[in-house]
Amino acid sequence: MFAIALAALRRCGAFSVARWLTRDRLRILCYHGVSLADEHEFRSRLFMRPETFRRRLALLRRARYPVLPLGEALAALELGRLPPAATVITIDDGWTGTALSMGPALREYGFPATLYVASYYMDRQTQVFNVACDYLLWRSGSRRLDLARVDPALAGVFELGNADARENAALALVRYAETLADAAQRQALLERLCLALDMDPEAFRRSRVMSFMSREEARMLQAWGIDLQLHTHRHRLPLERFEDVQREFCDNRASLAGIAGPSLVHFCYPSGEYRPHQLPWLERCGIASATTTRGGFNRRGAPRYELKRFLDAEDIDELEFEAEMSGLLELLREGRDRLRGHPTGAAA
Ligand SMILES: [Zn+2]
Repeated sequence: MFAIALAALRRCGAFSVARWLTRDRLRILCYHGVSLADEHEFRSRLFMRPETFRRRLALLRRARYPVLPLGEALAALELGRLPPAATVITIDDGWTGTALSMGPALREYGFPATLYVASYYMDRQTQVFNVACDYLLWRSGSRRLDLARVDPALAGVFELGNADARENAALALVRYAETLADAAQRQALLERLCLALDMDPEAFRRSRVMSFMSREEARMLQAWGIDLQLHTHRHRLPLERFEDVQREFCDNRASLAGIAGPSLVHFCYPSGEYRPHQLPWLERCGIASATTTRGGFNRRGAPRYELKRFLDAEDIDELEFEAEMSGLLELLREGRDRLRGHPTGAAA
């Protein structure tokens, strides 16, 4: 129904009108990883197929959206000098598929992008434990898992065909993993989980599924015009103490030094989470801009630590993507908010 309505609106020129009405607002796209295997079937909001990403770039080119580097776009937004319907591409985390698929596609199209790197897993080169654990349990189909076979410290038998049981098994594993000393021990636990599920741990590690790109791959992306920026080192923004936040930025900058450009000042909140009391801390840490996971376009005067983005995903079809880019969905959201009595102000 939604698709039929969008197609009709497109035919009668509503997309073009919306694009004109929202021409001075900055569009910031947000991506995470692309699949090396079937990750998009596991989490379609976190991973997309490489061909879906390519099709998005083709649409941006075909529809002539000017794609700008983040810093340049933010400066132009502040001065009211953005080209019409200006767009920025951002990518979070640093998954291996970003280096293997997104990087070459962006290079081919000549589009700049910003990659917010959580550097811990890039440095360690182990698989990201919690996501990899969920993935293995999902991948194992309807097997029965005896956690005692994974580690003597664990207990419980779980029917993995059941989503709740899968979640409980993952919770037990992640809690136990948090008590382990380092990433190498968590990787060893992951390998024992593979064995308990009759999977080949070596093949899983070699597949690089749920792993981050290497430092060499990150360096290559920077050379291709994909600007490496900050996402904290351990993918967390501590809530309580400024010193802990400062340490995250410090470790993140230290890790990226030598492979990123000279100016590490743009930031993306890990998992989109932040609280108002943390915003002044960003200023003290020399942060120039911060992007959120809140949807919408950015107008002149938008708060620089609460920039909105459009979270593109595998399960968003091309027509909906086009409707979002045109500004039509932005205008509909605005209309809805006005009806509810929550006008989206210039700085919202
Ligand atoms: Zn992230």
